[in-house]
Amino acid sequence: MEKLILSEDEIVRICDRLGKEIDNKLEENANGVPILLGVMNGALPFMYELVKHINTPCQLDTIKVSSYDGTSTTGEVKVQKGPDHSLEGKDVVIIEDIIDTGITMHFLKEFVQNTYHPKHLYVCILIKRESKEVKFDELADFTGLRTDEQRYIVGFGFDYYGLFRNRPYVFVPSIKDIKEWGAILDEDKKLTEQWKKEHSSK
Ligand code: 5GP
Repeated sequence: MEKLILSEDEIVRICDRLGKEIDNKLEENANGVPILLGVMNGALPFMYELVKHINTPCQLDTIKVSSYDGTSTTGEVKVQKGPDHSLEGKDVVIIEDIIDTGITMHFLKEFVQNTYHPKHLYVCILIKRESKEVKFDELADFTGLRTDEQRYIVGFGFDYYGLFRNRPYVFVPSIKDIKEWGAILDEDKKLTEQWKKEHSSK
């Protein structure tokens, strides 16, 4: 690894603080209990740690959007899966891993508000990058860590071509890491293609 951004202990401490901040805001109302809406796949480890520190009765849900192709943003956000619960008139917290250029969050907030009509819509993020390429100056209501780090980060939900979400900490990978992971991805691609070839001929 090149640099540790958040250790396991720091993540737990951050989630404890954020949980208390969220508890102070969330309210059950006549339309039902609050919903924590995790943005798949990156925010799921964060949502599952965070929810352990929230005492207000709430339900978990997910929305899936895509804007990244490998390690660079495409600038275009698409919704691939919507929430399973009704959000109408409820307190909803979008749980996201990072705000970088702000493109994803700008789109998400408008989409969730205009499509599902929650009463209050909050945003909770693990990391706010003080980005050099801000497109929308989106601020979260609850923020874990602010960083000037401009390099691509991985671990605890953050992926490198789908890999390394399962590391329990967040870090900047080294050149050596990236080379090793490239080899893992090439090997995986070969195995998948071989499997497809064998199964398509039967
Ligand atoms: P934005 O739209 O604000 O530029 O970027 C937000 C999305 O990009 C996040 O949902 C996250 O999935 C992805 N992203 C931004 N920076 C990084 C990064 O350094 N590492 C990883 N793995 N994903 C990132």
